[in-house]
Amino acid sequence: MVNFIRPEIAQLLAYSSHAEAMETPSNVDKLDTNESPYDLGAEEKEKLAWQYQQLIQSNRYPDSTHRELKSAIVEYINETDPSGFVSENQISIGNGSDELIRSLLIATCVGTSASILLADPTFSMYKILAQTLGITTISIPREETKFTIQRGQADQAIAQAEASGHPVKVIFVVHPNSPTGNLLTTEEIQWLKERTEDILIVIDEAYFEFSGQSLVTELSQHPNWIILRTFSKAFRLAAHRVGYCIGDAQLIQALEKIRLPYNVPSFSQAAAIVALKQRQKLLTTVEETQKERDRLYNELVSDSRLKVWESSANFLYLRLNVSDPEQQQKHLVQTLQKQGTLLRHTANGIRITIGSPAENERTQAHLKTYLQDKF
Ligand SMILES: *Cc1c(COP(=O)(O)O)cnc(C)c1O
Repeated sequence: MVNFIRPEIAQLLAYSSHAEAMETPSNVDKLDTNESPYDLGAEEKEKLAWQYQQLIQSNRYPDSTHRELKSAIVEYINETDPSGFVSENQISIGNGSDELIRSLLIATCVGTSASILLADPTFSMYKILAQTLGITTISIPREETKFTIQRGQADQAIAQAEASGHPVKVIFVVHPNSPTGNLLTTEEIQWLKERTEDILIVIDEAYFEFSGQSLVTELSQHPNWIILRTFSKAFRLAAHRVGYCIGDAQLIQALEKIRLPYNVPSFSQAAAIVALKQRQKLLTTVEETQKERDRLYNELVSDSRLKVWESSANFLYLRLNVSDPEQQQKHLVQTLQKQGTLLRHTANGIRITIGSPAENERTQAHLKTYLQDKF
């Protein structure tokens, strides 16, 4: 037996998206992981192929400083937020933003009794990564009409954690939240501003390109805030695993010490640079996604058997307005999966990624048929 493995690891299940766990038809609408429905264009792929043939030496380690990619990211950030000027020493790049989440946990909590605070439902990786590192997660529930953070409960939880010897060192928030799609409100942002500087505030902007809302201009006022972004969503590069964070230079330096030296392969660095250079073209699909999201929302919101929430991201969150909703939601997701539409059953609801217009039409049709047959 492998008795040397820590019990909390032995008890964990390896991460897999639902779709991988169940049998599915081969030709599916993959609307369960919030990726872009569109591959990189042929032109971008040709550029990348050319770089691989002419520039990337497969026998050499990647650029461990991510120099060219960092400078392209800085240009991108400063273009969208010229008032909050950011420089290269405020950026760290990860093998997906998942790696950065882990580095942040290592930098703040590992080897101490410190804990992290989450408002559920939210992105699942914070808790999973904390568990693997032996870090305590404190979860408070969100309010259920708009999924705002219950700030009073959060204050109480922070005080209790302090009193019990597990002081909260990190608060993770997503802006807009996954799976519920809501942006941080003015009141929530104010609450974050009022936290002591002994607590790191991680603002995950994985869906920034879809919301158009960022707190990057606030960073200069708040050295205990850090913003996470990713190339896995609007930039269509989920296959390449590239994420980045923006924050105080000292905090960034700590993350740079923690990460593996060659964490982002040369080909992935090249892909992110190509995507940034071609961003005007690549991000044209964002507008289509926003329109499709709002169209699908308007279609679904009028159905009394559903409760649908407005979203600022590239997905919608909904619940069935029936008795025993969890059982029914599970059945709905399984039924649609057999028909070739993959959705995510999560947090007592269903999350639907916005796909191409054709995919969204099929989603809508499958949902409608299901609801008619069933209720
Ligand atoms: C998709 C997503 C990420 C992206 O993770 P990567 O590791 O960069 O692919 C990060 N945070 C949230 C909230 C997400 O939904």
